[in-house]
Amino acid sequence: MQPPIILVADDEPINRSLIQRRLERAGYRILTAENGSEAVEKTLAAMPDLVILDVMMPVMDGLEACRRLKDDETTRDIPVIFLSARDETEVKVSGLSLGANDYISKPFKAEELLARVDVAMRLKHERDGLRASAEEARAHAEIAQERAVTDALTGLLNRYGLQRALSREHAEARRYERPLACLMIDLDNFKKINDSYGHSAGDTALQQVATILTEAVRRSDMVFRYGGEEFLALLPETDLEGAAALAEKIRAAASSRLFGDGEHVFKLTLSVGAANLYGTESGNDMIARADLALYHAKEQGRNRVARAEVKA
Ligand code: GH3
Ligand code: MG
Ligand code: MG
Repeated sequence: MQPPIILVADDEPINRSLIQRRLERAGYRILTAENGSEAVEKTLAAMPDLVILDVMMPVMDGLEACRRLKDDETTRDIPVIFLSARDETEVKVSGLSLGANDYISKPFKAEELLARVDVAMRLKHERDGLRASAEEARAHAEIAQERAVTDALTGLLNRYGLQRALSREHAEARRYERPLACLMIDLDNFKKINDSYGHSAGDTALQQVATILTEAVRRSDMVFRYGGEEFLALLPETDLEGAAALAEKIRAAASSRLFGDGEHVFKLTLSVGAANLYGTESGNDMIARADLALYHAKEQGRNRVARAEVKA
């Protein structure tokens, strides 16, 4: 592991080398600066783990240097220890109120310097660790959330993802009086596909259907895996006419190609129920009507599109 880096700013060369030698012996790597502005510059360049600032320095004093480090987002979290012959309370207070971590009065014993440096380093180490684990936890939660709404086989959003998108799109459609439509899509006789060619070939076919759907829809449309071999497309800004046309395009695309994984190749068709948002119904009401239309499409012989009727 790299030794921790400490920047020491003091205008007195003797002080600098004394502190440097003592801290180097304790295992730290030391950078030095002769005044406040050099200290700020070197801190930005080297991002040390700790900065020790003499208060009284020419060009820029330690208080101003500290203020600049604490004003800058990239250096704000680097601990600062003040070092000064001026033992007045008000200097201590202004240093600490600027965000300095500690204050050492000159003359000081080497042991005191080391002890205070150790404490500041330990605190920083702990805080860095806490921050890292908080970030890790956040990333984990994000992945878990992503997984909860995504279907592992097809990569499409699942039913939970649908409910979120549906309430959002439903609210938009109602607020701006814009059309909204959906397609309920179910593979025909899919059980037979599994029975004849195996579950794994069936899985491949589901992925291939997912690809057909994603390629057929517009960018603003959304495709979901609704259930086992059922898919749903949510179509903002689309009326029943447009929805049925898209459904027909999808049906034709599926029925005119082959599915399977190379080992088993087979034909596969699908049926679609299309519905558009009507009156004051909910998004789930619209989906229920699309589902009913799908049922009619199956009844009428499969491999076809049926439009939902509105309740009288
Ligand atoms: P229909 O035309 O009436 O829809 O007939 P069907 O056989 O497609 O309908 P049914 O609901 O009887 O069967 C659905 C089949 O889909 C049964 C089930 O094993 C299969 N299935 C559901 N999810 C998956 C999956 O993730 N992978 C595979 N390979 N098959 C699945
Ligand atoms: Mg089916
Ligand atoms: Mg089904």
